[in-house]
Amino acid sequence: MALVPFDDRDGWIWLDGQFVAWREAKVHVLTHGLHYASAVFEGERMYGGEIYKLTEHTERLFKSAEILDFEIPFTVAEIDQACKDTCAKNGLTDAYVRPIAWRGSEMIGVSAQDTRIHVAIAVWEWPSYFSPEEKAKGIRMCWAKYKRPSPETEPVHAKATGLYMICTISKHAAEKDGYTDAMMLDYRGYVAESTGSNVFFVTDGVLHTPTPDCFLNGITRQSVIALAKAKGIEVVERHIKPEELADFTECFVVGTAAEVTPVSQIGEYNFTPGSISLGLMDDYAKMVRRQLQPA
Ligand code: PMP
Repeated sequence: MALVPFDDRDGWIWLDGQFVAWREAKVHVLTHGLHYASAVFEGERMYGGEIYKLTEHTERLFKSAEILDFEIPFTVAEIDQACKDTCAKNGLTDAYVRPIAWRGSEMIGVSAQDTRIHVAIAVWEWPSYFSPEEKAKGIRMCWAKYKRPSPETEPVHAKATGLYMICTISKHAAEKDGYTDAMMLDYRGYVAESTGSNVFFVTDGVLHTPTPDCFLNGITRQSVIALAKAKGIEVVERHIKPEELADFTECFVVGTAAEVTPVSQIGEYNFTPGSISLGLMDDYAKMVRRQLQPA
């Protein structure tokens, strides 16, 4: 299947307050965001005309920018509206929504005090991160070479582009070996998250998930915890050692793109997608489409 490059599509991109033709939404090669990773972004999904947890995502975008020491020159309400308008302008009611904010070209150097802050929003159709077959069987994962850094090493709670460098390297290594994704440990050696989603495990009907103290406390993660608790499932947030994976029967990853995706293998450990994973996968799919009351 021929790839359709992301810079060569029809449609409209919201750029600094205006719609520009998709192919014209460009930046200069001397852009601070490109050279020094001074960029923050979001990943959202619109389901049947509504963006799930839109304001939470926009607020996280603003928080990420603040952590990177820049201020987005719009209000949260303006960006919320711009996300909705971009979907409408492109005629989409089911879409992936990608806002991004970055430092411009006025200065190239470590100091970037006087750079202009730009914001763009692009939307496109992206049905499922993983194929339906992969979802039903569970995806296979290996261990990543890189570890999630300490909060003293990187601004770990920002959804910042620079933090994805080790994710892309790890995901490529996994794909080269025939796996779908890689599971990352943290700087202490505890199980952390995948290259783009949070992780949950099941034992004896109880959910266990790593404490998000050095990686994103994902919006999907928080929704799934609420859904599980509403169903009477106990949820334990704690540090999990890799060797404890032998004790778990089910495993799944969650994120805006991944939604709820069962996992059949992480390295030497195997899991079987069961009633808790598949139940939460269905509940989440219904909840985001407003066919189930939010927990
Ligand atoms: N961790 C990483 C590294 C991610 O990229 C994502 C996706 N944004 C998540 C976790 C899950 O976050 P959310 O549920 O807010 O999409």
